[in-house]
Amino acid sequence: MTINNIVDESFIINQNKLKKFDNRCDNIKIGIMGGTFDPIHYAHLATAEFIRDSYKLDKILFIPSGNPPHKKRKITDKYHRYNMVLLSTINNDNFIVSDMEIKREKSTYTIDTLKQLKQIYINAEIYFITGADAICDIETWKDVEENFKLANFIAATRPGISLLKINEKIKDLKDKYNANIESIYVPSLDISSTYIRNQLNKNKTIRYLVPELVQEYIYNKQIYNNGE
Ligand code: ATP
Ligand code: MG
Repeated sequence: MTINNIVDESFIINQNKLKKFDNRCDNIKIGIMGGTFDPIHYAHLATAEFIRDSYKLDKILFIPSGNPPHKKRKITDKYHRYNMVLLSTINNDNFIVSDMEIKREKSTYTIDTLKQLKQIYINAEIYFITGADAICDIETWKDVEENFKLANFIAATRPGISLLKINEKIKDLKDKYNANIESIYVPSLDISSTYIRNQLNKNKTIRYLVPELVQEYIYNKQIYNNGE
């Protein structure tokens, strides 16, 4: 089976997961894992799984961003990034991929996504997962206060940022915005997409840092060989 066939198959599997999930109308807890995922790596997946288990979340919805307003460098085509998230979640019924941000024409903001999620999953409790770095600059996000009204936030530890610093930031956000936000220690994996892109640029290995199918996709489509 070629990698393109596997992408097609993972798309269909994901559609079925979405259909099943959308039909549920009881009180559910959804974890949201947003990101550029350029590319998705094992720290994203391990963090999501650890938080799903710790907070007893029903599902984790991965939402690759479309045109992220915060990122300055040239981002890989959104369909490649989306396909890699599909490939990474093919074997996990609890991980579902949403195309709601990549389908948007304009810049994608979390506030719009949260509003849309609230309309689709009316009775759901939403837990927005962020890494420590993201929580530290959350005040630059659009409509920061409204974001906190629509979802609970979970800040996962990330190598390089101390739990102490995260907790100080959280206290500050709680005081200022009455935010519902908690930190959680997750077993650290010092992996970033930037590191993976750098490895690829230097023709160095990325094995065991990303799922095998993602590695195959990257080599097959020859993404990240152009100095990005
Ligand atoms: P880049 O280096 O391109 O910024 P990244 O590895 O930070 O990539 P993003 O797509 O920017 O990945 O991150 C999506 C989400 O995953 C963010 O909330 C980020 O904080 C979190 N995250 C990424 N890597 C880790 C990690 N190693 N541990 C914990 N959280 C992480
Ligand atoms: Mg990042």
